[in-house]
Amino acid sequence: LPGPDVEALQPDDVAALLPRPDEAAHKYTRGVVGVRAGSATYPGAAVLCTSAAVSGLAGMVRYLGSAADAVRARHPEVVVAEGRVQAWVVGSGGDADAEQALADALADGVPTVVDADALQHVRRGPGDLVLTPHAGELARMLGVERAEVETDQLGSARRAARELDAVVVLKGRHTLVARPDGAVRVTTSGVPWLAVAGAGDVLAGMVGSLLAAGLDPWDAASVGSWVHGAAAALASAGGPLSASRVADAIPETVRRLLT
Ligand code: AMP
Ligand code: MG
Repeated sequence: LPGPDVEALQPDDVAALLPRPDEAAHKYTRGVVGVRAGSATYPGAAVLCTSAAVSGLAGMVRYLGSAADAVRARHPEVVVAEGRVQAWVVGSGGDADAEQALADALADGVPTVVDADALQHVRRGPGDLVLTPHAGELARMLGVERAEVETDQLGSARRAARELDAVVVLKGRHTLVARPDGAVRVTTSGVPWLAVAGAGDVLAGMVGSLLAAGLDPWDAASVGSWVHGAAAALASAGGPLSASRVADAIPETVRRLLT
């Protein structure tokens, strides 16, 4: 482990934290996640983000954004209309309107996953945030060189978490999940084949669905990161991956954890 106050999440911990529907569940009690992601340049990011969100850990997915046709074509389950949500995912895939998407999510007062282009607009303030930068995005947020983040990943993730009062998921070979008080969880379930375009969009949708299901930001971020890595390992089985296949492997990954 990279230092004190750093916990390596284990499969049993993840299984205990996963949401399970009770007998009286209906789709709204299981949580609605709203996705605002994708752009004319990257409509696929919206599809990948919603692919993870519809994998069944929450009760419903809403999509708002410029890639609605692509999302609807691929995922008939997604509701392409405004309405109440229990969590938002904003910014994945170069959302041209990322700043507005973030402002709207914060105004809604629900926990929010902030990814990609929306990250640079995050300011310290009220609200439960999970930030999902890779090293380059975190460097830009902190105003430092990427190399500085890469040589001190733990310190960089902790600094951003403390300064922005948010849970920070620093993605990479090992993903670090840092809390404002300095506690860190590390997830090592992934495989190098996960270094592929779109993988981060899948992670954001995954964490959003867990927030909507009622996990707190710290648990949603760390359980989501762990399951994302494990889904990649399952789908890879030693061979190459696409981000779509990572999302498709989430239900089987969860089933293996629960049984
Ligand atoms: P993004 O850069 O936003 O597409 O996100 C990349 C995703 O792939 C994150 O979930 C990373 O943790 C994961 N990833 C990138 N490189 C590696 C690696 N070498 N080993 C394992 N996971 C990786
Ligand atoms: Mg990304």
